[in-house]
Amino acid sequence: MIAEILCVGTELLMGQVLNTNAQFIARRLAALGISHYHQTVVGDNAERLEDTYRLALSRADVVITSGGLGPTVDDITKRAAARVLGQELVPFAEAEAMVEERFREYGKPMLPNNRSQTLFVPGTQLILNPYGTAPGGIVPAGEGKFIVHLPGPPRELEPLFREQVEPWLASFAGCVLVSRYIRIFGMGEAAVDEALQDLELGGNPTLSPYCSTGEVMLRLTASAEDEQAARALMAPVEAEVLRRLGDAVYAVEDTEDGSLAQTCVHALQEHSLTVATAESLTGGMIAAELVTVPGASEVVRGGFVTYQSVAKTMLLGVPEETIKRCNVVSAEVAAAMAEGARARLGVDIAVSATGLAGPGGGTEAIPVGTVYLGLATKEGTRTIRLHLAGDRARIRTLAMKNAIHAVLKTVTP
Ligand code: AMP
Ligand code: MG
Repeated sequence: MIAEILCVGTELLMGQVLNTNAQFIARRLAALGISHYHQTVVGDNAERLEDTYRLALSRADVVITSGGLGPTVDDITKRAAARVLGQELVPFAEAEAMVEERFREYGKPMLPNNRSQTLFVPGTQLILNPYGTAPGGIVPAGEGKFIVHLPGPPRELEPLFREQVEPWLASFAGCVLVSRYIRIFGMGEAAVDEALQDLELGGNPTLSPYCSTGEVMLRLTASAEDEQAARALMAPVEAEVLRRLGDAVYAVEDTEDGSLAQTCVHALQEHSLTVATAESLTGGMIAAELVTVPGASEVVRGGFVTYQSVAKTMLLGVPEETIKRCNVVSAEVAAAMAEGARARLGVDIAVSATGLAGPGGGTEAIPVGTVYLGLATKEGTRTIRLHLAGDRARIRTLAMKNAIHAVLKTVTP
């Protein structure tokens, strides 16, 4: 099987934009073991684009295009391909639904010319795009050949290629793709990147990071003739990642659907331990996140939302005197909250969170982002002081995730 890369855009020809898409696609093709002998850049010109399609289809099985899927008159990549194939472009309902949803999400009006983004040759397999407004597509080009259309912006093209084009190419080329998902907490994207830079460059397997608030997930993917061979390629890289990141890795799984809460609930289940929460700044988020996991009722007994100081005293028995003496955002109050919850609900582990989410109220001694977690078990009570950065929502989310991570580390140190 032979592939060919065709990048469309006058800005590339003029040197205004560096053609990183060609480099990205070329690397991924190499990792998949797919040959490619030509890369072409064509401006937004219908005639030259049609000529290039004819040439590319004469010498390759799959022509991968980037760019020119937008709504404007110079976005001609799909139209030129249709003309070469002698086909009409027709609207695809699924593409319309996707484009409409994206505009709703962005809060922008959908203009009539955005309809052009929903047009494809009949028989096209859509590449629905969660990262932007232009869907891509895999277009049958006759004689068992295909044209793959992808949007130009690299932040859309790269994940779409990894997630949707690679599995298709792999099956086309008669190999399998296998992935492992390595979940990391308490280490920023930059630090993970720094530690793994040399591994991320590798061709096969590849290692790509995905980030969310406070977390990094690494996707390790190998292609090979069968699953066993793919796993054999991944094993040494996985071991090296675990060696370098150590404690920061909390799960390694075959699925990308995991979460910190899931790992925590499963650990509690395995050790037959119950948990309760005593929450101030998180207002119930810790309990709510834990119960997103099916089967959480086996281990999550309940929780207290104690926002004002008086509630901490009434519901958890935190002494008024402690709050006055130490401040409501303090290790002493976090400890008393956790102990109060543990005693009242009779659980193995109680976790508490008290802190300052801001934006106002910070002092030099207790700046915005200061959070104390408490963990009460039969061995005793410990507290953790955190300095979290960000706005109110981010501080609360990070406090919740740190609390769940602390419970996990209490169960499986
Ligand atoms: P387009 O999909 O043609 O409207 O392209 C949208 C934007 O994506 C362009 O303005 C560029 O900034 C970027 N882009 C398009 N093609 C490439 C490419 N081959 N490499 C890197 N960036 C690109
Ligand atoms: Mg363009």
